[in-house]
Amino acid sequence: MNIGQHIQQRIAEKKEPFFSLEFFPPKDIAQWPSFFQTVERLKALDPLFASVTYGAGGSTQSHTLEITAKLKHEMQLEPMAHLTCVGASAEKLTSFLSALQESGINNVMALRGDAPKGVDFDWNACEFQHGSDLVRFARSRYPQLGIGVAGYPSCHPDAPSFASDWDYTAEKAAAGADFMVTQLFFDPREYFSLVDRMRERGINIPILPGILPVQSFESLRRTMSMCGANLPGSLYLDFEAAHAKGGAQAVREVGVAYAVQQIRQLLDGGAPGIHLYTLNMAETCLRIAEAVKSEQTGKAS
Ligand code: FAD
Repeated sequence: MNIGQHIQQRIAEKKEPFFSLEFFPPKDIAQWPSFFQTVERLKALDPLFASVTYGAGGSTQSHTLEITAKLKHEMQLEPMAHLTCVGASAEKLTSFLSALQESGINNVMALRGDAPKGVDFDWNACEFQHGSDLVRFARSRYPQLGIGVAGYPSCHPDAPSFASDWDYTAEKAAAGADFMVTQLFFDPREYFSLVDRMRERGINIPILPGILPVQSFESLRRTMSMCGANLPGSLYLDFEAAHAKGGAQAVREVGVAYAVQQIRQLLDGGAPGIHLYTLNMAETCLRIAEAVKSEQTGKAS
């Protein structure tokens, strides 16, 4: 079997900045052909890895495994499957992680996930309550896995303070993570602050900044309502004005220009690469990558 590489090893070997990509499994299997066409287009970015999210609610969980395996065996990408432990039993997690290994996939993003919406959820009844519980579990049962964890430059929305979130994020990393990928954010200073706080706590794993290519004002608002990231007021006003003037197309233009500037600052400040939240859309990611590349080429010549 074609055994995958660890993401941390690929990061360590990579001498130049890179992109990695995040996809979500389309709910409907009828959408898979167009989904894989999108992935095919995005292979032009030569991504260091491609990750596939896991629906904590359950509907697309088996799709995560199947799509991750296809990315590896049919599209020759280095994939990572996400996995959440909220409400899961050890047996269920074992079954997912074993299936992953059997498919030759060597990387997992270990997450807590969120409580199901609209129900009175009892966290105390959960076998696994924190992302760090899943990291410990996966590390002890599957020592050969590459394990990623989430970091929050704008602070996790449930955390009572930045300091407690940094402490718990560091604890999660120390439990056996190999690298960290951040939640999307818009102010590069938040990323550098998270990196500094982790280094102060003795966490030296690579931390990949997550960037959202903005697709439309509605999708931006939806994403912001879910993830707890901060949007600088002036940028919000730019998006709002663009939306009023030229709709989604104009919003994307503002988003591309902002993302390119953000990426430049992140790479100049030492970020090893950029994790793009693709939202399963190719065009904007390709435009951002092209602009970043032409800037880098301009710098080198
Ligand atoms: P944790 O690390 O457990 O942190 C959650 C909260 O608990 C934080 O406030 C933290 O400070 C606090 N905390 C942590 N440990 C302790 C402790 N020991 N005691 C007390 N408090 C503690 N969700 C999905 O459903 N599917 C996905 O595929 C998915 N992919 C994601 C990918 C990335 C890169 C990111 C950034 C997020 C992703 N999410 C996904 C969302 C994620 O599941 C939520 O943000 C979730 O609320 C937190 O997960 P976590 O693993 O970061 O949790």
